[in-house]
Amino acid sequence: MRLDLFSIFPAYFDALELSLAGKARESGLLDVHVHDLRDWTHDRHRTVDDTPYGGGAGMVMKPEPWGEALDSVPIGPGGATLVVPTPAGERFTQAVARNLATRQHLVFACGRYEGIDQRVIDEASARFEVLELSVGDYVLNGGEVASLAICEAVARLLPGFMGNPGSLVEESHEDGLLEAPVYTKPALWRGHQVPPVLLSGDHGAIARWRHERALRRTAERRPDLLRPSAVLDSFVVRRAV
Ligand code: SAM
Repeated sequence: MRLDLFSIFPAYFDALELSLAGKARESGLLDVHVHDLRDWTHDRHRTVDDTPYGGGAGMVMKPEPWGEALDSVPIGPGGATLVVPTPAGERFTQAVARNLATRQHLVFACGRYEGIDQRVIDEASARFEVLELSVGDYVLNGGEVASLAICEAVARLLPGFMGNPGSLVEESHEDGLLEAPVYTKPALWRGHQVPPVLLSGDHGAIARWRHERALRRTAERRPDLLRPSAVLDSFVVRRAV
């Protein structure tokens, strides 16, 4: 998978050299291209923002550098998907991550200030599949951290990314539930005992315990995930992918 990441703070993406993402780059599974948006400015101050039309606080990212930057992306026959992180976007979920993991080429446009002039996104839809995505109902300073979260959630679904692909199967959000609590050795730590069923060797009993604890945890922490419509949504998205 090819990733192009555009930002005025490209150093954020140094993190993609670490851990499993770094290994995936070395093996060629991920082909990462990080770009400084200011390379597409033409004035002495390398300006990327201006005051908002209609007034209001803050600045808006100018369309010209963004337009030229996105024009520079080579698009292969498989096409490319432009991801624009924004708190005003559709919710980024595990189902969306699964969908994105089927793409060959993802491009990330990281906004700052009050965001990117909307015409950039509208115009880009002539060349890209465009997705405006929110990583949660809160506001970050810029799209870099959101893009890193999306990249990592997508990349770990690529065949060959995880050392043990089995780790992906029972994770939170994969079957619509939060994962049951996990434990490792020692069996007794500071007076706290590991649930005895996990030491029993009875795989059926362990699977039932994990499912029951996953259900209980989901009901307590994320009852919204248990609504019939939520289960149906996740099923429909998975079938569509
Ligand atoms: N004025 C924008 C609004 O109210 O929707 C918020 C702009 S925010 C300060 C600057 C940038 O951070 C956004 O353009 C976006 O790239 C990123 N960002 C902030 N919160 C985000 C979120 N929850 N999900 C994805 N991106 C986010």
